[in-house]
Amino acid sequence: MIVLKFGGTSLESVDSIKEVKEVITSKSGGRIVVVSAIGKTTNQLQHMAELARTGDTQYISVYEQLHDQHAEIISLLLDISFHEKVEAIFKQLRRVCDGVFLLKELTKRSLDFILSAGELLSSNIIASYLKKEGEQVNLLDSRVFIKTDDTFGGAIVDFHTSNGLLKQALETSSKITVMGGFISSAPNGESTTLGRGGSDYTASIVAAALDAEILEIWTDVDGLMTADPRMVKHAQVIDEITYEEAIELSHFGAKVLYPPSLKPCFEKDIPIRIKNTFNKQTDGTLVSSGTDDDQLVKGITSLQNVSLISLSGTGLLSIPKFTKDFFATLAQHNLGVEFITQSNAEHTITIGLASEDAENAYHVLTKNFESHIADGLIDPIGIERDLSILALVGKNMKNQVGVSGNMFHVLGRNGVSIKAISQGSSERNISAIVKKADLSKSLNVLHEAFFQYEVKRVNLFIVGVGNVGKAFLEQLRTQSFILREEHRISIKLTGVANSQKMALDEEGISLDKWKDTLDSGDDFDPKWFQQKIIELNLRNSIFIDITAAKAIADLYPDFLQKSISVVTPNKIAATESFISYQNLKQTARRYSSQFLIETNVCAGLPVLSTLSDVVRSGDHVHQIEAVLSGTLNFLFNEYDGSRKFVDVIKQAKEEGYTEPDPRMDLSCEDVKRKLLILIRESGYAFEMNEIALEAFMPSSCQNTTSMEEFYKQVEKQEDYFKKLYQKSKENGTRLKVVAIFKDGKATVKLSEIWSEHPFYHLEGKDNIVLFFTDRYKEQPLVIKGAGAGAAVTASGIFADVLRLSQPES
Ligand code: ADP
Ligand code: ASP
Ligand code: MG
Repeated sequence: MIVLKFGGTSLESVDSIKEVKEVITSKSGGRIVVVSAIGKTTNQLQHMAELARTGDTQYISVYEQLHDQHAEIISLLLDISFHEKVEAIFKQLRRVCDGVFLLKELTKRSLDFILSAGELLSSNIIASYLKKEGEQVNLLDSRVFIKTDDTFGGAIVDFHTSNGLLKQALETSSKITVMGGFISSAPNGESTTLGRGGSDYTASIVAAALDAEILEIWTDVDGLMTADPRMVKHAQVIDEITYEEAIELSHFGAKVLYPPSLKPCFEKDIPIRIKNTFNKQTDGTLVSSGTDDDQLVKGITSLQNVSLISLSGTGLLSIPKFTKDFFATLAQHNLGVEFITQSNAEHTITIGLASEDAENAYHVLTKNFESHIADGLIDPIGIERDLSILALVGKNMKNQVGVSGNMFHVLGRNGVSIKAISQGSSERNISAIVKKADLSKSLNVLHEAFFQYEVKRVNLFIVGVGNVGKAFLEQLRTQSFILREEHRISIKLTGVANSQKMALDEEGISLDKWKDTLDSGDDFDPKWFQQKIIELNLRNSIFIDITAAKAIADLYPDFLQKSISVVTPNKIAATESFISYQNLKQTARRYSSQFLIETNVCAGLPVLSTLSDVVRSGDHVHQIEAVLSGTLNFLFNEYDGSRKFVDVIKQAKEEGYTEPDPRMDLSCEDVKRKLLILIRESGYAFEMNEIALEAFMPSSCQNTTSMEEFYKQVEKQEDYFKKLYQKSKENGTRLKVVAIFKDGKATVKLSEIWSEHPFYHLEGKDNIVLFFTDRYKEQPLVIKGAGAGAAVTASGIFADVLRLSQPES
């Protein structure tokens, strides 16, 4: 004997009912088919009953809608326009609803009667259809066989009586038996129901009563999944799971299984297979007593609407009676507690309840403890709303240290603060309470962290799509496939902006069409862009500033505080006062975000990441010598007096080697900034005005008000540049702007470099940095290579993004 259960999702249309028939007839021997109501019938019945209760005549149209839906299915499946039994059920349903409308009263008893119509209708229709298709079918009214007490709305099953009746009727049947799930009857024969989603329970009761070989639950997903597929897009099917794990997983939210339904099969060790009616060939999920898998976390489950209630006060410590009273009060009012934690030190008990129960709990507890609250023994009952609960489930978690640590680390890194934690005594479950607004993000980051074969999604928000920004997006476009396939990282462009426009798309902006998307976006407003990014509250978010604008740098602290990391070649933030530089770093540390500025110094060369490793490993930098401007190096390498100095500047600008404003390069302001960053990252508190600058530009070229004027002044000074060049040539030297930090003093100046010096052979737009440290004393640590250009800067940004995107270990 096997039991097959089909949910409403499998009975939604004529086509899906045909699929159901395929499943049933592909098997042989005795089969019990338990069916739910068609589609969303139960919800519609409930809605209709509520309308009738409030005196709203709209209940009639809902009734008619339901009637028409069923009549249409009957005419298409059975080729008849009138089904006597079905019409009789509708007639009775209408009479009861009219009664509710007249009396404006809806008792749980009448609601159960109304809801039971769904399964009565579906079982009649499915049985008639199978008969019409030539099958031998036996139709049972479940209310005759599943007996309960009279707790309407969620009746308690009388297993002894029900098992006896089911055995007697079905034990030896070799036919197909169709019966409705969810419905049952009280001792006096009145209709009761087993709670919403209860058809699974009916099927399990029947399977256990008849010692069935297997219970198959057919639904619209490929099995029990690692997370609710509506919340976590990349949820995976779980191949095998134990009853205990499935109970934990279904407890909060895995709607695919009604929690009590596991117990009857569990007690009889009857395997349950969950399968997809619309994808029959996949194996689905097997729920059984023993699986040897070593998967640490089996799934993640959640309950969206939760509130926390707390009982606290010094009286709690001395009078344990309060604790007892507290739980007794909740039990008395039938209020189910989802979560409990206790803090002895703070004399507090905190419980989590489904939000609708929590309001009730708050009132009954406040009333119950009224006098003790007035005496000051107990603080007023606390309630915190708009929360969610999530739990990691897995039987192997108890043997493994560090799962909860990892869970909290992953949440913390994404700026999710945890309100309360609880580990179930079974150790198969670690639960945490988070803000409701953070639930989706939390589920997704945890899913990525614990199901390693999963792809990690990273969300980028970019401002600035000039030369470097464009190059970066192009590199991202060409690399995204490899990143996804080989490194399990899916980097999405979720927001993009330039000084005119901005566009955001949670699903990701196409890297082929980002320009069009941006052009048709909204007008750019930095604050608004930031607010939208924060509101989106997406996991693994990175803000990338590829501008040189202060208004954008000013946004960093708020991003870092929201645990959104910042990657930027913009040097403004890192070169403001030491205090504000330090504050940024501290904010990042405090909120588990990162402020990565590799491209602030020497474009894509790994100067700052190397320096950071040196410092973190305990070494101490005491001297830095460097050529830090690719632009200036290019100018002095190219210029030989044969064409004007100003023309070489123009060429550098055109080729993208200069700052957006080349005057930043020529004034050495840019070199000063880079040196300052190197000094600070080496661990020194240093300010910009402590760097001595020996400017090489004639004073007439400084402080010009426009680029044209600047070019004009440089052109006028051609002789001066020619002399500089010739003098150096005669001396056998090369000109380099050198940045030095030595004995606590910093200088930037144009120097003549002799041929023995390591800087002499620095070609093109290359940069070089020499670090003298405790460990690199005689021979400095040297980093040398291309120090300017859109492509290398873009690849430095890319390296920072990848640093932030590594899958959790
Ligand atoms: P049926 O009508 O077959 O009883 P339900 O709607 O009651 O179907 O349950 C199936 C739905 O449960 C799926 O469509 C899915 O969206 C939802 N669901 C929630 N959590 C999970 C999970 N962990 N695994 C599978 N499905 C889940
Ligand atoms: N039809 C009932 C409900 O929607 C029972 C079930 O589908 O399991 O709750
Ligand atoms: Mg269901």
